[in-house]
Amino acid sequence: MRELVCIVCPKGCTMHIDEKDGETIITGNTCKRGEKFAISEMTEPKRTICSTVRTSFDEMPVLPVRVSDEIPKDRIFDVMAEINKVCLKERVRRGEPVIKNVLGLGVDVIATSDILKDI
Ligand code: SF4
Repeated sequence: MRELVCIVCPKGCTMHIDEKDGETIITGNTCKRGEKFAISEMTEPKRTICSTVRTSFDEMPVLPVRVSDEIPKDRIFDVMAEINKVCLKERVRRGEPVIKNVLGLGVDVIATSDILKDI
């Protein structure tokens, strides 16, 4: 049996994952999203990343960013290393890519603020 805390919403349901006769049985989830999360965790765990990148603008030396979709959990440190290499020289808007298709994962790193355009 494996115990897993669902991180999909703040409720944080504790789920139990059992196998019986080759069938996976998930209990403790309050909704279907928890079951989907548990299956994902057992097969191909994914996570999102929120971070910041450096900029070349004195009035806003860092800009908040996130990945546009979840990435494989085991690639988090690789993606963070790419994010840490960036020093923005252009003023981007919220939702615009800062890194396109990071590491070929099919996911962009995007700005989450308009602050560079607004100041
Ligand atoms: S199982 Fe549903 S209600 Fe419980 S934490 Fe996950 S998403 Fe939230």
